Formats: sequence, structure tokens, C-alpha cells
Amino acid sequence: MGRLQRGDDLLESLTNLAGKQQIDLGEVSALGAVEKAVTGYYDQHKRKYAFTEHNEPMEIVSLTGNISLREGKIMVHAHIALAGEDGSVIGGHLAPGTIVFACEYRITAFKGERLERKTDSHTGLPLWSD
Ligand code: ZN
Repeated sequence: MGRLQRGDDLLESLTNLAGKQQIDLGEVSALGAVEKAVTGYYDQHKRKYAFTEHNEPMEIVSLTGNISLREGKIMVHAHIALAGEDGSVIGGHLAPGTIVFACEYRITAFKGERLERKTDSHTGLPLWSD
């Protein structure tokens, strides 16, 4: 467990922390606040992500994610729910460009067979291969 610094890129920082600890299988959770955020929505018909910038301070209501491998590199896949001033929540796939105001995280390392992501022909997504 620990905290990130104001101004950190949320996804990049979590990925770097996992890399430093050599955690290639695990889970991530966090709460706190962001200065701004970028979330992704996977368009299942177009088979690509649409990204939305949210240029306002928001609370991290929930961040949940996992750690596995993609092309041999540690990858954090996380989804985030964010609340604005009126309490309404938006969310999606956590993308680079989400900037920390304050953040407390928890990373849990698992033992076991590593999971490697490969492009899945049914969805177009980088999913864990069978
Ligand atoms: Zn996702």
C-alpha cells in the first residue's frame, strides 16, 4: 500500500510500481482524487476505444484492476469510477492522462501461472490467452 504524488499520471505510476516490485500477476485498487481524467469506452462494433477527457477535479470512487503480461511487459488494466462536485459518477477504462491530486493505492501480488494477453479474434481486445 502507498500513496501517489500530486501530478503523477495514475496509470503510468501504478504500472511503474508493479514493474519496480516485479509484480507480473496481481490486482490493484485505489481511491483518492484526480485533477483531470481520461477514460476509454470500447466500441464493440468499431472494435476500438473512444477516449473522453474530463477536465475537472473529481473523486476516485473506485479503481479496480489487474496486473498481467502483454508482449512480455507488465500491464495494468484498470477501470475507474469518478464523482464530480454534484456526486454524479462517470467511469470507464483508465487511460493515460489521468492526473493524480491525491491517491492511496493497494497492489496485491499473486503467485501462480502468469497470464499473457494476446489479441482475441472474437472481440479485438488484448485478452488473456487460453
Ligand atoms: Zn478495460
